[in-house]
Amino acid sequence: MVTLDLHHVASPAVRDLLHLVNHPDFDRAQQQIEHLGGCTEPVRLTGRTTTLDTTTGEVLRSYTTDTEPTGSLLTACGNRRASRCPACSRLYAADTYHLIRAGLSGGKTVPNTVRTHPRVFATLTAPSFGPVHNRPDTRPCRCGTRHEPTDALLSTPLDPATYDYAGAVLFNAHAGALWARFTTYLRREIAVRLGLTQKAARAVLRVSFAKVAEYQKRGLVHFHAVIRLDGPDGSTQPPPPAATVTMLADAIRAAAARVSISVVSDAVGEHELVWGEQLDVREIAAFGTDAELTDHAVAAYVAKYATKSADSSGALDRALFCRPCQGRGMTLAAHGTPVTCTTCSGTGQARPLPRLAVERHVRQMIRTCWELGKRPEFEALKLWKWAHMLGFRGHFSTKSRCYSVTLGALRDDRRAWRTEQAHTHAGLPKLDPSTTLVIGHWAYHGSGYSPGAQLLAAAVWHRRELERQFTAEGGC
Ligand SMILES: [Zn+2]
Ligand SMILES: [Zn+2]
Ligand SMILES: [Zn+2]
Repeated sequence: MVTLDLHHVASPAVRDLLHLVNHPDFDRAQQQIEHLGGCTEPVRLTGRTTTLDTTTGEVLRSYTTDTEPTGSLLTACGNRRASRCPACSRLYAADTYHLIRAGLSGGKTVPNTVRTHPRVFATLTAPSFGPVHNRPDTRPCRCGTRHEPTDALLSTPLDPATYDYAGAVLFNAHAGALWARFTTYLRREIAVRLGLTQKAARAVLRVSFAKVAEYQKRGLVHFHAVIRLDGPDGSTQPPPPAATVTMLADAIRAAAARVSISVVSDAVGEHELVWGEQLDVREIAAFGTDAELTDHAVAAYVAKYATKSADSSGALDRALFCRPCQGRGMTLAAHGTPVTCTTCSGTGQARPLPRLAVERHVRQMIRTCWELGKRPEFEALKLWKWAHMLGFRGHFSTKSRCYSVTLGALRDDRRAWRTEQAHTHAGLPKLDPSTTLVIGHWAYHGSGYSPGAQLLAAAVWHRRELERQFTAEGGC
């Protein structure tokens, strides 16, 4: 092996990389990085697993991170946000795509006949909380100027002083509850249209949903949802003939209009939270018809939004509250006396809000989360905890049980495949899960790569990107 005099290498990352390359177990180190597929911030674990034969108690195989060149095992971070980890978010988007697609055209565990069921793509938006700089079309904005399409002012309040920030944050905080009510009312509206009681309707029909949240430029969440009608057992059965796309669309409009949650507070008065008037309901084309919205387009659209943060700047891709004091600004001293948190100097914020690299309007949404979050009547909303989501605390993408496969099932598939691969490489026989037991002890050791490994990971990501583009351009 050629040994290099590393003192002549100026860059610490390159110096670390050369160390790594000269390591006797470099192949294994590189294999670990390869498996992560370019993950930006992998988790380092230490520990061991032992596989036992449950009938004899014999140890069939064991693995410990002590034998790894770095003394630890790297696993992918699995973050859904593209601003945090492009590689893992792409995997998340791909999984989301497959589960939405399976619910529309069949695949995985869903039969192909599902494509004949009535289904629509609906968008439920937020109402107005005050005039905003409007769209750059034929008419000039109310502020008197004509905005370029890329103007950062677009969709932000015309007059921040009178904009209802409390209402906007409370809408985001209740968006999940508004959605839950919408689904209850929708089932009711469908039963009415079929001339049945709700109980009788449940016996002949089931409503399935898959939705994703998206942030509009004005910092409000709205929902895109695939809504599908099945028979009582789900995707394997069609609904009764009276359950048509037209009936479904009509029931959606009626249900959305009925939803309302009222919030009363001394600080911000009374707020009636409702969906916005803009409600888009479109039929999703069945295979072979030429309606404009295809199942592929819907799945791609949902997958795209599943990896976005509240703000495109990347400043909001993690929580903003101070961990040691849990956002309260105070910690308890030895005798139980509250003292000002030394980490955040009592602000409760992990990063000072004025220094966040976000637009003024977004910052004001965050500030409102903080102010309302301190009020006892809003304590349950945990607004400081969800400030980076601008108050929205629901799950980013959700689906009802019967829609299609779950993200967890897709991940399990992949894990099983990887394990299988590892076994093939080691030339080991397949184990019978009914007579084997895996005992594992794992500890979190940290996250991220060493500077040299980071270079290797970047190379893996770059190569995969090239391969992906090549495939997309029709290569093979
Ligand atoms: Zn990752
Ligand atoms: Zn304007
Ligand atoms: Zn603190």
